[in-house]
Amino acid sequence: MKNPVERLRDALLAGHPERAALVYTPHNRRYLTEFPSSDGALLVTNEGSYLLQDSRYVEAAGAEAKYCEVLPFTALTESLVELIKKSGVKEVLLEVGKLAYSVADKFRREFEAVGVNVVLDTTLDNQLIAMRQIKSPEEIKKMEDAQAITDATFTHILGMLKEGVTEREIAIEIEFHMRKLGAECNAFDPIVVFGPNSSKPHGVPGDRKLQPGDFVTMDTGARKAGYNSDMTRTVAYGYATDDMKKLYNKVLEAHMAVIDACKPGVKCCDMDKVARDIIDAEYPGLFGHGLGHGVGFEIHEWPRFSRLDETLTEVGMVITDEPGIYVPGKYGVRIEDMLLITEDGCRTLTGSPKELIIV
Ligand code: ZN
Ligand code: ZN
Repeated sequence: MKNPVERLRDALLAGHPERAALVYTPHNRRYLTEFPSSDGALLVTNEGSYLLQDSRYVEAAGAEAKYCEVLPFTALTESLVELIKKSGVKEVLLEVGKLAYSVADKFRREFEAVGVNVVLDTTLDNQLIAMRQIKSPEEIKKMEDAQAITDATFTHILGMLKEGVTEREIAIEIEFHMRKLGAECNAFDPIVVFGPNSSKPHGVPGDRKLQPGDFVTMDTGARKAGYNSDMTRTVAYGYATDDMKKLYNKVLEAHMAVIDACKPGVKCCDMDKVARDIIDAEYPGLFGHGLGHGVGFEIHEWPRFSRLDETLTEVGMVITDEPGIYVPGKYGVRIEDMLLITEDGCRTLTGSPKELIIV
């Protein structure tokens, strides 16, 4: 397979000798060059690919960045203008999805001042989305490594669930343990909610103390080599009532039905419907969020298992399967795995058990 810079060039620059793509946002820069930095830009032309980095990064980038030549800068826009003039570029594609208006406007004004046409539409964004949503075997391996940390942390944390421990204490232990196991950071701030707080899908861990009969929902993930993992498990502490078990098993039924139905060539919105129909039949209106989202360099990527996304699934996509039922003021359950779409269906990247665990 060609490297990502070559694929970007083939898709957008071939046949347009004077066109270039300017990749500015950190995730996309890192995706193309495998080098992380908080600032800089990557200019891809038909002849070359140039990663501009300031003095904080230039030495490391020279040693580690792939598929590009590293150039130093002190004033980014000035250096880009110089490079564009030297390369004979007459048209530059910019990202628009996550580029601040002030930055896009500065690039536009300065490039147009030297006679360069600036394309501010979704051409570049759409190409990067299309590339990033199909994971290579190397990317999948990195995501499995990230998930292995998340699975090990879940096992570790089950032993910490004791009466009186707070949500905040468990969240801190998750963060610490993931780092200890080699995560570069947590993929996001862990969600740890007990008892009635578990009805809030994105509740913030606070001072609630664990009590028998509580559901404990933990939505956590580690990041490794830039790639995120994302998993939710709900366990019960002490005991679970029949109503709690019934609710849990309904979420599990919806989650498993998606795994059974998921394969290449299905509409993402239809996967959402598989889970939603099962839950709505018995718990109408209590599953408010979408079924899942792509994961990779960002914790929420394309495509989405949502009512609105008609994208067809393809081999290599990694999308979460995370149905939930939330009873306000009472409790909630969510079960989340990352599913890799394969030739003959899908494979979960998540290793933790799914049957209701009563700690
Ligand atoms: Zn999650
Ligand atoms: Zn998720």
